[in-house]
Amino acid sequence: MEKFNIAIDGPAGSGKSTIAISLAKILGFIYIDTGAMYRAAAWKALKENAGFNDEEALLAVTGKLKMKIQPDLEHPVGYRVFVDGKEITGELTSPEVSLKVSLLAKVSPIRRILVEQQRRMAESGGVVMTGRDIGTVVLRDAPVKIFLTASAGERARRRFLQMEDEGRAVDPALANESVKVRDKIDSSREDSPLKPAEDAVIIDSTSMTIDEVVNKILEIIGSRRKAGEF
Ligand code: C5P
Repeated sequence: MEKFNIAIDGPAGSGKSTIAISLAKILGFIYIDTGAMYRAAAWKALKENAGFNDEEALLAVTGKLKMKIQPDLEHPVGYRVFVDGKEITGELTSPEVSLKVSLLAKVSPIRRILVEQQRRMAESGGVVMTGRDIGTVVLRDAPVKIFLTASAGERARRRFLQMEDEGRAVDPALANESVKVRDKIDSSREDSPLKPAEDAVIIDSTSMTIDEVVNKILEIIGSRRKAGEF
């Protein structure tokens, strides 16, 4: 089977990573979470005490970031992230990083650096890539584009459960607020705002199980291939 790419976008807590890991396992694809790249840059900026309103400082940190993403579907998050040779996977979802990452992600020259890396990672095909601008910017030619969404309440509930799973004691109201602020910045920024690509299939997963969403995407792939679309 010829190797194609799958683009999955959607807001925080829409279930992108769970669905992408499952698809990658079934199809034998590589899973790449572009959110982890923005988070790794934000993690490093926090370490270096860069001001999150100082675009030049954030760009300098990202420009010299020595980051490695190692796909690993056996790991609970589906990959491991190294910065300067040190593993930081578990630190990427900290409340501090979550709170600041969207401020870094709205800086255009930073996006250009990371988008170029993301395109290179998907060059040979066989990649399921998740993010906010994969269908609209990074992999505009991907033959399968999914925009995953869920109600705000359900997304907050999922994020909260995920944080609990990671062993973080979180106040649900705070977690909810943080996700809302992030989604607002991500959807309203000028460069590559979160929105469905014109040719994306929008799936509302509020009352769907993981298997139902995965099967729906597999059906979309199957019917498009049958129709000779790719
Ligand atoms: O997917 P995740 O919630 O880990 O992403 C963290 C943040 O990184 C998002 O809230 C967004 O600000 C940024 N991001 C982005 N473009 C992407 C992926 C993530 O701007 N393709």
